[in-house]
Amino acid sequence: MEYKLVNIMEDKVLTTVNKAAGQLGCCTCNKCKVDLAAYVLNRIPPKYVDTEKGALYTRANHMSSDFDTKLLMEVTQAAATIGKPVGHN
Ligand SMILES: [Zn+2]
Repeated sequence: MEYKLVNIMEDKVLTTVNKAAGQLGCCTCNKCKVDLAAYVLNRIPPKYVDTEKGALYTRANHMSSDFDTKLLMEVTQAAATIGKPVGHN
């Protein structure tokens, strides 16, 4: 069986950005959301796992509301720093 490395933070951060971008007054187009996610991912430690463990870890981590709150704070900070107003070109 072949394993691949996955940074599970990517999925966590993208999910948080998808939920929060509109509420934070940011543009919600795909480019701007990926920009926000990249900014956050460069500020927090990555969490690399192999794909099988990654699936398990993601489920377990889903219950950590402290972590979700921390991520939301990072996304809010990113939005304040690089977030673009809705309607940019
Ligand atoms: Zn945009």
